[in-house]
Amino acid sequence: MKVLWCWRCKLDVPMLDEEEFARVAGLYRAAFSPRSPTEAPSGERRSIEARFRPVCEEYERLTGFHETNANAVMHHRLSQYGPPCAHCGKPLRTPEARHCAACGVTRQAPPAGGQELPPRRV
Ligand SMILES: [Zn+2]
Ligand SMILES: [Zn+2]
Repeated sequence: MKVLWCWRCKLDVPMLDEEEFARVAGLYRAAFSPRSPTEAPSGERRSIEARFRPVCEEYERLTGFHETNANAVMHHRLSQYGPPCAHCGKPLRTPEARHCAACGVTRQAPPAGGQELPPRRV
């Protein structure tokens, strides 16, 4: 887990690494399942909020951050974000981003020997 700026939420939020994300993603999928363990024993349908509550609870357990929106949890995944902008320090929106959406600066050339693809002519 690592706290990063989320451009969707406009907040610094804890982002999950792949191992942590796999746990909440499993709970998220389970919430869609007809055999969801969150289903009330009586068989009555629980509210959407109740079905997705385990996602938020697991996220809070992992990060200590109280979140009530399972959809927000699902985009707080470290691998979805790029490296920090050299100018403003906010993470790029995607690992492939060519410029920083927060301050508009063009992404710096990666250090020699990096694994970046060569620049493409448009
Ligand atoms: Zn977010
Ligand atoms: Zn920037």
